Amino acid sequence: MSLPDLNNWIEISESAYSHNLHFFKSQLVEKTEFSVVIKSNAYGHGMKVMADLAVKHGADSFCVHSLDEAIELRQQGITCDVLIMGPVLLSRLSETIRQDLRLVVYNIEAIQHLKKITAEMKRPVRIHLKLETGTFRQGILEEDLDKFLSELKNSKLLKLEGIYTHFANIEDTTNHDYAYYQLDLLSKMAARIKNSGFPEIKCHAACSAAILLFPETHFDMVRLGISQYGLWPSRETFVSYKTKHTRKVEDLLQPVMGWKCKIGQIKTVRADQKVGYGGTFQTTRPSKIAILPVGYADGYDRGLSNQAYALIQGQRAPLRGRVCMNLIMVDITDIPGVRLEDTVTLMGVDGQERISCDYLASLCGTINYEFATRINWQIPRLIVK
Ligand SMILES: *Cc1c(COP(=O)(O)O)cnc(C)c1O
Repeated sequence: MSLPDLNNWIEISESAYSHNLHFFKSQLVEKTEFSVVIKSNAYGHGMKVMADLAVKHGADSFCVHSLDEAIELRQQGITCDVLIMGPVLLSRLSETIRQDLRLVVYNIEAIQHLKKITAEMKRPVRIHLKLETGTFRQGILEEDLDKFLSELKNSKLLKLEGIYTHFANIEDTTNHDYAYYQLDLLSKMAARIKNSGFPEIKCHAACSAAILLFPETHFDMVRLGISQYGLWPSRETFVSYKTKHTRKVEDLLQPVMGWKCKIGQIKTVRADQKVGYGGTFQTTRPSKIAILPVGYADGYDRGLSNQAYALIQGQRAPLRGRVCMNLIMVDITDIPGVRLEDTVTLMGVDGQERISCDYLASLCGTINYEFATRINWQIPRLIVK
């Protein structure tokens, strides 16, 4: 197979993704809907590419953040259920009805507006109520629940399909008391809703960490985000999982994304030369420097300056100087035989070496979620086996 004519590209491993989806599916009981979260360009992996792969490898439905993401999926030919989890402007609610999308609701204004337009359009809408259990982001407070239920009770076209909540402190700790507190409140509110004439609703709560650690949170549907891409939600989740399970967990999740580029120039630089903006690196010996067509505009964070390394021929080539907007410089003095346009791995595996998303994220003081989603959405995403 010949490499594409690209300077800078993301590789999506279909075998890794299929492995992850099959693992998670095997953790669920039959009746639990397996929904995958592909907001923010599928956590940087490429929404279009990942949506097709998710359907192919057994996901039941999708969760996205915005109406526009949902519409993009419909335009791509995705016909399965799509839940919009973020706010939709009242003026655009009719589009969710037209596209037959699932809609999260936590404002009474949305219910009132939906009642009006579903009647005008003579079409139903499926809604999921977001319940506030302690994250204090979007959600309906326990004391406001009755107001929502009485609005819904006398409406034929507003179909209450589901209720859900989101955990506030499940990834950042190995103490899960707060998650259990939220779970109790959810159960309490769910019971109230079911007893108010909605016995059939789907209840859901689980993100990646909850799916991995607490099977009792799977309920009727799970919302699998980061871990479908082979990334752990946090070190704490990994440690908690490891303590609970005897199986080998290091290879349980397989990273789906690789980031590659091709060398744009190779030059020999004398000793005592300063490399890059601000001259933050000075050569201590005659050095071979490779210039790579990647920079902070691509999401290769400036915090990686003089810290990260890339892989060439399975060996580490350290970054020299600051990350520029579109370029970085790496030291290849100790890697013999490197040639112009050789392929470089910025993230992923080369030989015995791996550069993980977690590692790059930690170097710039953030988490894998942020590092992955900020990789420029315009970089081509290629599926590899
Ligand atoms: C992003 C998101 C998820 C997925 O979380 P992960 O930790 O990535 O699995 C689930 N539910 C809601 C409401 C979200 O916003």
